Amino acid sequence: MRAQLDEIVGSALQRGSAVPAFTCYDFTTALAVVGAAEEAGRGVILLVAPKTAATTNGLRLISALRGLADEASVPVAVQLDHASDLEVITAAVAAGADSVLADGSSLPYEENIALVREVRKALDARGSADVVLEAELGGLAGDEDKAFGADSGGEPSGNDVAGLTDSAQVEDFVARTGAQLLAVAVGNVHGKYKGEPELRWDVLQDIAVRTRIPLVLHGASGIPADELAKAPAMNVGKVNFNTELRTGVLATLEAQTAAHRADGENLQGLLAHWNASAKDFAAATLGMLSR
Ligand SMILES: [Zn+2]
Repeated sequence: MRAQLDEIVGSALQRGSAVPAFTCYDFTTALAVVGAAEEAGRGVILLVAPKTAATTNGLRLISALRGLADEASVPVAVQLDHASDLEVITAAVAAGADSVLADGSSLPYEENIALVREVRKALDARGSADVVLEAELGGLAGDEDKAFGADSGGEPSGNDVAGLTDSAQVEDFVARTGAQLLAVAVGNVHGKYKGEPELRWDVLQDIAVRTRIPLVLHGASGIPADELAKAPAMNVGKVNFNTELRTGVLATLEAQTAAHRADGENLQGLLAHWNASAKDFAAATLGMLSR
């Protein structure tokens, strides 16, 4: 069913839970995620990458996800992830996205604020005042769409490369941007972690006491479950997953393709394995973050 992203997250936090958000490059994965959420009786968030939203087919995917979300028996939101291009943002919202991460985190502080305000203004002017805005403060290392090569060397570990969120800026940033959720950099990275992830719980705690809006943890793939389970206590109400979902789906396809090719080019059967892999991951994640 249609539900505001901030309401899905807010009600989860009240129960001591967080809501997982999954990047969907395709409809098969989205069906799996929504199926897992329905079986768990929990709300969920479908993420669309900005590179997806920048294409005509990507906008059609957003419209399809909108239909899927509205038909679901649990609350589902469709969010455009990490966007800074106004044209892509307004097109994605027109196609059916009901939330946007207006990401100016790579910009200087004042320009980051200006970007979020500009997005809000543009959406309001188009009659989309109900679109929920997430903003990001602090730099996240890594590539959202690609994991780091396993042996490429020199991968960022999070703490040394990404700029941690400066908790002293949080109150001012939230007040001036009007952001409804805040993505933070506390040692989390996009893609694969080099060695053990070292989340800075001290920094997260510092941020959590300075704002009442829900916090968002990106790059959760690779962070141990018992660590992630602590997040809702620090007001982290949304946790983004991408890499682990892709890892599982690709491993499944690799293992199953030959047999399904031999079985009369059985694409339908192969897609069922894709669905099962994504659904199992989504179900495990929903369970891990739920109280
Ligand atoms: Zn992200």
